[in-house]
Amino acid sequence: MITSKWDKRFMDLAKHIATWSKDKSTGVGSVIVNDKKKILSVGFNGNPRGVRDDVEERSKRPIKDYYVVHSERNAMDEAETSLVDATIYCTFFTCATCAHGIIQKGIKKVVAPEPDWNAERYAESQRHAMEMYKEAGVEVQFYTEPSETLIAFWEIGCGGGRVHDIITADKFTSYIDKYKMKKIAQGIKITRYNINDKLGVIEFFVGKEKKLYLHFGNYEVNKFIFTR
Ligand SMILES: [Zn+2]
Repeated sequence: MITSKWDKRFMDLAKHIATWSKDKSTGVGSVIVNDKKKILSVGFNGNPRGVRDDVEERSKRPIKDYYVVHSERNAMDEAETSLVDATIYCTFFTCATCAHGIIQKGIKKVVAPEPDWNAERYAESQRHAMEMYKEAGVEVQFYTEPSETLIAFWEIGCGGGRVHDIITADKFTSYIDKYKMKKIAQGIKITRYNINDKLGVIEFFVGKEKKLYLHFGNYEVNKFIFTR
């Protein structure tokens, strides 16, 4: 999945909101948006309104868990409109309890960094959250910073594939535009193009029938997969 400009904007905002949390160990931020990219609500983790957060014992586990409202829950509770078909951006992958609310509110997509599925404290809850999302039909997109994601472009010819370029994900659209202009300069009349994210191919339409294909995929460095 290619991280879009808007994914980055909302995640950057969620990261900023996470800094408003007084939680000393894990500040988490959430942003809920609709399909028009309108922000419906935001939230960070903290005690309910009016409940003191300066009591020492409340800041330590297991007591802390009785007091702290998770950022996702806060964002959902603060929303003053329907969250059906909305997308929630979280700086930390959701727990199972927040997944309940996300599913029940009709949120259709969760964008968050992929968690460490074996981490001691949260992983079990997160694994169950993931299981529920799958069954309930909530799409999950694991977020990676565009600057960390490298994309390779190549053309398939009779001699096999040849890698053209390797770029960072934030330059994805501008790269395609430049490629198109280059072809036009070579006399190939490209009318429009279509990005098929699933198949990893861009179809360029030349005239009425002919198509030109440019393939793309995540580029792996030292077998480390930057995104999936
Ligand atoms: Zn939670």
